Amino acid sequence: MKFNQVNWKSAYEWLRKKQALLVEAYKKGNYLKVRHLQISILKDFRTTAIAVRRVTTSSSSRTPGIDGVIATTAEEREALAQQVYSIVRIPSIYKPSTVKRVWIPKKDGSQRPLGIPTIVDRAVQAVYLEAIDPLVECNACKNSFGFRKFRSAQDAVLALRGKLIHPKASEWILNADIMKCFDRINHDFLLRSIPVYRKVDRNVLRKMLKAKIIDMSVVTTPEVGTPQGSIISPLLCNVALNGLEEMLKAKAIELCKPILGRRGNPKVHVVRYADDFIIIGPSKKMLKVLRPHIENFLAERGLEISKAKSSLFNIWEQEFEFLGFSFNKKRFNYKKRSEVSWVKRSYKSTSRIIIKPSDDNLGKLKNKIRDLIRSHTDLSTLVLKLNDYLRGWAMYFAITGDSAERVRGMHRFVLRQCWDKVLKLHPVTPRKTLRKRFFPRHRFYQLGRYVERSWVFSVPTKLERPSMSDAKLRLFNLDSVRAPGKALIPTGLNAYEKADRERLEKRILYTNFPSGTVEKICRRQKFICPVCGQSLSNGENIEVHHLPSLKDSRLLATPNAQVKTVALHKLCHSRMHKDLQNCSENQRF
Ligand SMILES: [Zn+2]
Ligand SMILES: [Zn+2]
Repeated sequence: MKFNQVNWKSAYEWLRKKQALLVEAYKKGNYLKVRHLQISILKDFRTTAIAVRRVTTSSSSRTPGIDGVIATTAEEREALAQQVYSIVRIPSIYKPSTVKRVWIPKKDGSQRPLGIPTIVDRAVQAVYLEAIDPLVECNACKNSFGFRKFRSAQDAVLALRGKLIHPKASEWILNADIMKCFDRINHDFLLRSIPVYRKVDRNVLRKMLKAKIIDMSVVTTPEVGTPQGSIISPLLCNVALNGLEEMLKAKAIELCKPILGRRGNPKVHVVRYADDFIIIGPSKKMLKVLRPHIENFLAERGLEISKAKSSLFNIWEQEFEFLGFSFNKKRFNYKKRSEVSWVKRSYKSTSRIIIKPSDDNLGKLKNKIRDLIRSHTDLSTLVLKLNDYLRGWAMYFAITGDSAERVRGMHRFVLRQCWDKVLKLHPVTPRKTLRKRFFPRHRFYQLGRYVERSWVFSVPTKLERPSMSDAKLRLFNLDSVRAPGKALIPTGLNAYEKADRERLEKRILYTNFPSGTVEKICRRQKFICPVCGQSLSNGENIEVHHLPSLKDSRLLATPNAQVKTVALHKLCHSRMHKDLQNCSENQRF
């Protein structure tokens, strides 16, 4: 088998089918079948190919491990795939290399340790991930959103909002912070509870956990914890913390009568994103009684709550932060008409929950923009860099009306900084000329109609762009950002089951696209790559292919004959060009 000849579409389909069978067998309790299926997933070359593709195309693929090796060319990937394949066929000989430790600064001044395995180890982990993740998904908490397929941090924020939005919703919040979750997880607990059914696989996982770590030439063997930065760590974090929500809810139902004096729904909720979680309860006493249970649950896994960072408070009195957003609940006085229109007035709108990007994050954005503007003198690269950053930032933070408003509010700041930069670069040119040259009016096509805007920062560019008719590069307009009105994700779905998967696939996972034009092309294709059938927003680089002739369009079988451009993964794009070349060569001979 060759990595460069894998038919991606059928490989992905094969894997999905096997994973669906795995989930089915696991739910029926047929562990012998689970074992067989797991082995067949692990030992097949297609899984290896998918894993290699994943580790060599992700954004972290350019960070080498201790051996300094990264796989960027086709030959290197081929070699990597063969190496990984030989490991997964005979896992008993596998010996992971030392993990490189890197420290990155955190916002409170301390440093966070990252552990970077070599690319071979990362690929082996990715193979195991495909075989284990479906089973972990079966036991997942309903309101856990971290590192699960089709679920994002934004879904966690929206879910939390849903739990808090009703005026009579539970109003006490326990904001608990697990102290150094990734560094302290107990290995024995993980190895006991991870769903693998072969001794040799458990040994492989043990070797991964016990892999030596090198930090400034000091080599240590970890007794606890899993290196942040390896592919399998988020999965292990989920393995450790799954069950928390169910345990707390069961306890809350038990305690409902003695504490609240009534039977029924205790209105206790847990929303979790990886190791970050918020617990909502109806009374202070309830949460105080539940807290020791949480501590016991965590102690079993070698974890503890950090006393300094966790707090218990009432939502009407204090705002809190979760995943970079600040949450604030307010009552509204309807004597004042201005706050909510009379039409909207209803029982539900006697209170509002206001979600905004937190002040820390706004400060960070401002600093980053100042840095970018200071460090670039070429305006077209500056605009490209700014667009990249602003687009990603806006995409993450504009999820509700209030937060989108805050995002739009940053537009003036960005524009002002750009204007100052232009003045600095052209000190003698009259301002009127500068304004005409760099900040002209422009007609945008936006939300189905044309809008004319003044003060659009545009710079001439020589870069190649999907639409060549226009040789100007424009600043991404934060002012036009609107909340997408995302629906709450239905809870309790398993991304590896066929029916559930189809439901989840309908929601488009929105990620950062390189430019507005590319995004438009992707949207036309419903964010699906026509070559491999995978989502375009899976973190791989996207390229635009121009269809020069009818032959190509027949080859791709695009339904719309007028489409002249298609967006593809970078890997799929180069594959397609190779196929086209082969095609024409065959015709010649
Ligand atoms: Zn693709
Ligand atoms: Zn092309």
